[in-house]
Amino acid sequence: MASHRQLVVFDFDWSMADQDTDRWVFEINAPRIRRWMEDNERRGTMQFTDMIAQALRDAHAAGVTREQLEHALRIMPFHPAMVRAITNLKAAGNTTFLCLSNANSVYIDVILQDKGLTEMFDEVVTNPASWDPSGLLVLRRRVDPSGPQHACAVGCSANMCKGEELEAFYARHTPTYERVVYVGDGSNDYCPALRLRSQDMLLCRTFGGLHKRIAREGGLKCEVKYWTGAWEVEEIFNTL
Ligand SMILES: [Mg+2]
Ligand SMILES: [Zn+2]
Repeated sequence: MASHRQLVVFDFDWSMADQDTDRWVFEINAPRIRRWMEDNERRGTMQFTDMIAQALRDAHAAGVTREQLEHALRIMPFHPAMVRAITNLKAAGNTTFLCLSNANSVYIDVILQDKGLTEMFDEVVTNPASWDPSGLLVLRRRVDPSGPQHACAVGCSANMCKGEELEAFYARHTPTYERVVYVGDGSNDYCPALRLRSQDMLLCRTFGGLHKRIAREGGLKCEVKYWTGAWEVEEIFNTL
């Protein structure tokens, strides 16, 4: 039986989806730029969202079109069991879905539309993006670099603190959720995971930075369940 007032929070890349949008679209359309990203990340000099914005400008200048980027998103691995898991839990009632992601609004919109999941999500909190008339995808940080910055001390990147965004979502959606279930894989999911309570549940993917940070730093108050394939998330969702 579904718990009353339950929230499910989904990270997107490698959590809801079985790939990373930011890297995948370049692996399909511009491998040279994908290599530039890899080298750039190793140097660690550029904020990640800014780097993706630059990569999108470079791809546009090299002739990569909006249609090519959208096609890459539609063919990106996304497990049918994850579609079923979300659809069936939504149909059971009482569950609100939030997508909380460091990707961008366009990537997530295209994929949720393609999988028939758009209507399942109350909010998608991510970096804003939009197509300009020339077909360039213009990407900005969620936290504008020229304004006040977030105060995260856990290590979230400058574009967004997922923990602060989760608490801001709670403030927009009172009363308090009786249970929060968070599905994540990355090191940037550790900050919101720290804010989960004893009655909440973290579904942590076994390969990724989140698993490593939990093992190294601990400090979680919630129950943690580990998963590798989307079919396991479906099994867990069927018990919520
Ligand atoms: Mg992720
Ligand atoms: Zn944070």
